[in-house]
Amino acid sequence: MHSKLLDELNENGYIVIEDFLTAEEVDSLYQAGRALCLDAPQNNRKIFSTIKQEDAQGKELYFMESGDKVRYFFEKGAVGDEGQLLVDPMIALNKVGHALHVEHPAFNAITFSNRVREICWQLNYNKPAVCQTPCVEFLRRQANLMDLPMKVYYPANEKNPVVVLTWKGLNPELPSILLNSHMDVVPVFPENWTHPPFGADIDEEGRIFARGTQDMKSVGMQHLAAVRALKRSGAKFKRTIHISFVADEEMGGRYGMRPFVPTDDFRALNVGFAMDEGLASPDDHLPLFYAERAVWRVYFNISGTAGHGSLLLPNTAGEKLNYIVGKMMEFRRTQVQRLQNNPELVIGDVTTINLTKLGGGVQSNVVPPLLMVCFDCRLALDVDFEEFEANLHKWCADVGGGIEITYEQKQPKVPPTAIDDSNPFWLAFKKATDEMHISIKPQIFTGGTDSRYIRAVGIPALGFSPMNNTPVLLHDHDEFIQADIYLRGVQIFQKIISNVANV
Ligand SMILES: [Zn+2]
Repeated sequence: MHSKLLDELNENGYIVIEDFLTAEEVDSLYQAGRALCLDAPQNNRKIFSTIKQEDAQGKELYFMESGDKVRYFFEKGAVGDEGQLLVDPMIALNKVGHALHVEHPAFNAITFSNRVREICWQLNYNKPAVCQTPCVEFLRRQANLMDLPMKVYYPANEKNPVVVLTWKGLNPELPSILLNSHMDVVPVFPENWTHPPFGADIDEEGRIFARGTQDMKSVGMQHLAAVRALKRSGAKFKRTIHISFVADEEMGGRYGMRPFVPTDDFRALNVGFAMDEGLASPDDHLPLFYAERAVWRVYFNISGTAGHGSLLLPNTAGEKLNYIVGKMMEFRRTQVQRLQNNPELVIGDVTTINLTKLGGGVQSNVVPPLLMVCFDCRLALDVDFEEFEANLHKWCADVGGGIEITYEQKQPKVPPTAIDDSNPFWLAFKKATDEMHISIKPQIFTGGTDSRYIRAVGIPALGFSPMNNTPVLLHDHDEFIQADIYLRGVQIFQKIISNVANV
């Protein structure tokens, strides 16, 4: 559709739309803005006071974690130690933002109005969405710089975007390549860091310190940098390449990859092969992850005879608990043995069982009617899931019943991605790393990543983070990556992407 607005925008870089808002609407926004100035919550003022958090670290952290609420940015010196305003509130506030457009009714009514939507359509935006997170805006700038189209999806809710940049291939009907990373990181304890955790300081040894330098903003940026370099070199590939950035991986992907995979939007990407996160490696070899264990969080809710602590009652919850814990620990010992007996095995090859929660009891001299014990189980690929579950129930029956099993998480078995001649993408990947003389160690991932959801719908996925000679510091204090390792990783990805996108 031809659009006069678009012509104007292209011509001038801006557009003026007269009478877009009514006088009443302007007034309502003005009144709302005024109220925000006068009524900014005292505790929020404190967060921003910048008096106790003069360093960049505090501000950076705040900036990254503050997208969930309306936030108030005060002028330096406007707020006292206790959050009290030191100057007239009408000049104390620098700006208000972040969740303002979602949460404040006056701003929400305009931002999400059909008029704004209509303008977006006229400017040729496809599926316009209001994006407020700094990360999405950063990626949009990258997409613009690289001249790649970008789409933002919200498979779970407004707060959890999925961003996809697309570089169309020469044969766009072929299944595509997906380079996936997650935008979220785990929290930090700034007092345990020797550098600001969101500052990306580089020390004299060339180490870049920041949360996400290993897990996994680094890899997301390498994906972007590799594609940018390839594009600039004039390279063309058969297959379309999608670079995706998802939310919520660290919390299990419930608001990110998991709900995205079954959508029509995901299916429309027509993914034939995906790459996602791996792990750093302290030596010269690079781990490559082709499978994951299944996470089961099992609760045993154990009821038994209650009564006075001076008696010897039959079938108490405590006896049953002891039996169940004993059986689980017995199984655990067999897995410890397997690891000890076979140096070839790594932790991802065996089943791990850990007692993680205990609860119950009312008073120290009362035999309780109910006790709870929870285990974190990671079922290895060689486990028969039905048999494992049948065993849990059998133990409960053997000890006299009255035990209810519930699951906080119970992942199904997901077949591993083939790393043999049957998988042409693996062959293309391997050819790239062989040619660069990179030693690859295929293995099963210890934890859980978004790759699992991709594999679960039958798409081959490999977890790979090119960070060798790097201590494994994901989720740890002072997470870092060496600058030259990072840059080398960009080259490694260029080679791998070139190969897999031409399969
Ligand atoms: Zn990660």
